[in-house]
Amino acid sequence: MDKHYLQPLLEPEVIVVFAARHADPNDQTAQGRALTEAIRAQRFTGQIRFLDIGFTGTLAELSKTRADLAVIALPPRDIAAALEVAGRMTCRAALVVSTGVTADLAAQLRKIARREGVLLLGPNSLGFQRPRLNLNASAAGPLARAGSLGVVCQSGALTAAMLDWARSNGVGFSLMVSVGPHTDVDIAQVLDYLANDPQTQSIIVYLEGIGSARRFMSALRSAAIAKPVVVLKAGRKQAGNEAAQTHSAATVGSDEVFDAALRRAGAVRVRSFVELFSAAKCLASRYRPVGPRLALVTNGGGPGVLAADWINEIGLKLGKLSAPSVAALKAILPEGASVSDLIDVSEDASPEHYAAAIRAAAADKDVDGILAMHSPKVGVDALAVARSVAALLPTTWKPLLSCWMGDATVGAARVLLNDAGIATFRTPEAAVGAFGNISTFYQNQRLLQQTPPPLTTLAKPDIEGARLLIESVLAERRKVLTEMESKTLLSSFHVPVTQTLLARSPTEAMMIATQLGFPVALKIDSPDIVHKSDVQGVALNLMSGTGVREAYVDMMERVAGLVPGARINGVTVQKMARARRGREISVGVVTDDPFGPVIVFGAGGVMIELIADRAMELPPLNQFLARRLVERARVAETLLEWRGANAVDIAALEQVLLRVSEMVCALPQLREMDINPIIVDEHGAVAVDARIVVDGGPLAHAGSTGQFAHLAILPYPSRFEQVLTLRGGGTCQLRPIRPDDAQMLQDLVRGLSPESRYFRFVSSFNELPATMLSRFTLIDYDREMALVAVVRSRTAGPEGAVVRDRKAAEDGSFTEIDRIVGVSRYVITPDQQSCEFSLVVAEDMKGRGLGARLMESIMEAARERGLVEIVGLVLRSNAAMLKLMRNMGFEVKRFDEDPDFAKVTHAL
Ligand code: ADP
Ligand code: MG
Repeated sequence: MDKHYLQPLLEPEVIVVFAARHADPNDQTAQGRALTEAIRAQRFTGQIRFLDIGFTGTLAELSKTRADLAVIALPPRDIAAALEVAGRMTCRAALVVSTGVTADLAAQLRKIARREGVLLLGPNSLGFQRPRLNLNASAAGPLARAGSLGVVCQSGALTAAMLDWARSNGVGFSLMVSVGPHTDVDIAQVLDYLANDPQTQSIIVYLEGIGSARRFMSALRSAAIAKPVVVLKAGRKQAGNEAAQTHSAATVGSDEVFDAALRRAGAVRVRSFVELFSAAKCLASRYRPVGPRLALVTNGGGPGVLAADWINEIGLKLGKLSAPSVAALKAILPEGASVSDLIDVSEDASPEHYAAAIRAAAADKDVDGILAMHSPKVGVDALAVARSVAALLPTTWKPLLSCWMGDATVGAARVLLNDAGIATFRTPEAAVGAFGNISTFYQNQRLLQQTPPPLTTLAKPDIEGARLLIESVLAERRKVLTEMESKTLLSSFHVPVTQTLLARSPTEAMMIATQLGFPVALKIDSPDIVHKSDVQGVALNLMSGTGVREAYVDMMERVAGLVPGARINGVTVQKMARARRGREISVGVVTDDPFGPVIVFGAGGVMIELIADRAMELPPLNQFLARRLVERARVAETLLEWRGANAVDIAALEQVLLRVSEMVCALPQLREMDINPIIVDEHGAVAVDARIVVDGGPLAHAGSTGQFAHLAILPYPSRFEQVLTLRGGGTCQLRPIRPDDAQMLQDLVRGLSPESRYFRFVSSFNELPATMLSRFTLIDYDREMALVAVVRSRTAGPEGAVVRDRKAAEDGSFTEIDRIVGVSRYVITPDQQSCEFSLVVAEDMKGRGLGARLMESIMEAARERGLVEIVGLVLRSNAAMLKLMRNMGFEVKRFDEDPDFAKVTHAL
């Protein structure tokens, strides 16, 4: 159970190599030669046999030549034959490093591999390196040093350069895999392996593009739960879609969406491979979550200012000492020191002065991390300062980084710091950037923890009405909704809009305006005009019926002159939103390839393109994510008290974002949306302009099906929530597990008898290790499901139980305590057809039918997911479980690999 399915590929014991056509060593491709040399350059810990393709044995002989992995480096015409032979040898994995393989041949190879049950890495892969096994099955150069970094690269181009850099900088790897463009085993699978590999402490991903965003996101998220993941992807400054029909789509570039996706997946993105390694290294030493405030301890003003500038530039904050620390430190430091801003210990600072300053920063609650900087000065011993800084590392849990500037004179100091485990950098920018990565990592981990449901708990939207409207638009072969239609759609999801009605004549406009009440706004209504005000198609603040008539006529004339071909439906009449000090913001939706719908937030108004202020986030959103999204936009500053206006109603804005998220989840046809502007003030928010684009064509991420196939991140599956009545009375709630269940899950495990714990985990721990706990609670609902049974009691519960509802407890005389009393779970097996389950029930709840109910529900979820079989391994000594399995119609079979277990299976 604890072996990863990629083990035969990445930890082989026996390897066969096909690198020559005949026994003749001259008969090799360049790759064949390179690979042979690479493999032979060190002693692999397992066995290796070199075969040529002429190797023919009888079938019996072939199957006696057992091997885990076949490495194939033959010219394209011979690969298929070699793969067949590998299959007959019952190799469970094959690596094809041959290049120049066409997509057609690659497809044929995949077919053979699937038929023979062989995992296939390649073709056109640079192979992999596993330094601890002394295995270099790659055409990417000499074997790297052993270390704790796991690397997966999408392309060969940079792989060799990266390895080269790592070699000359003493960076070591646990595993390096280059997957190549046509490979069957893909980045997502390797990520999954690295997440589970005990030798890997942090993961590096080098990416070029993404096939299926859903698969990628799900693999990345589950890896980032387990360990730090750093991603390098070349960013292209690329404008948005030219053919866009909304502001949002025209201004959003795909690289920004990629950024948002990585952030949400809990990963950290860097821009160069120098930064890649320093980030991976810094993150491997786990800190407590840290904020953005970096204190600078320096002996020179100039470098300190440089660092402070960079802190500003990349959105961090300068960590400043609190007043008492300032006073205390001032008393100790030399005359020239100044400590209220950056902590300049002066050029005369001694090692002790440095130590005092760092200690003060480490103890100060306004500081999240410390950068110790040193510039060379005649008479100051850089090494002694370094030594005193290094000695402080064990006394602080805050990130402590260093930057010893200069060259020859500080080499020894850098070595000393490095050996002490303090990250050292040559430039202030690099050091500040590294702290930025640490801080970002913890921020992103919080985003990763969010599992929003598709619909909020706010008032129910009219989804049916919305769908009908979209269908009627599509039936007319239109894609762009008019302003009125767009606002109607928003209204069905309870987004407040200005009341808007269409007039087809000046008189109609006058009548509508009179009924709505003055002042009103008139706007041209045309599917062909994205910017109404650009063509003078907006008239504001009209105060009378005659004014409206005139404005109507003028507007029609002007627009007809400025955009001759445009189709004009008429003019909409709407009430003026009269917020004197209202701020204009915009909320939009764009559809990205490959990530699908993305929600955009930023400054609004007619100059949106110029202001170019937008933050984005992938749906689904919850309140936490909505708030972060608002904070990331520059316009956020103006939403607080600003230029004499009161702070706006941020909650109202968040509600709009949550509603837009609901729309995106429920309406897969929604492709683009601009709500621009939304006018928001202290009393609320109202949308005064909206434009929505729909499309009936399919939009589904490869490998995902069902209601939310259009989303890169599957929403929290709230549809599995139900209330169960238990045998013997009482009820419990059944629902998918959530990250904030960690404490309750731990309590359940602690409360189990040692025997039950052993039955479930086949291990003798008393509680779940932290990594297991997070992996069990923050799950990817696409590849696994865990249902928890929760009982709420009104008495004092067992110690450590989580008090859910303190308010109820305060109001009444009781304490409400939630407790998880059972968990059933399935994890999809790599074949994507079946799943493996587990089940656990609290001691005091046994015999009340809970186990069976948990099993039934998890099987129902697996069935809905399209799986065909559910499988489990049960210890033979677990009689109660075997009885339950038989009662539920499971087939109980021998498990050949381990006689202590029985294998139980049930078709779905
Ligand atoms: P477009 O974006 O197509 O140019 P809008 O409908 O957004 O047209 O109108 C342009 C500007 O006019 C808005 O940014 C807003 O400042 C103002 N405006 C439009 N409608 C209203 C309204 N109902 N109440 C108050 N101001 C409005
Ligand atoms: Mg507008």
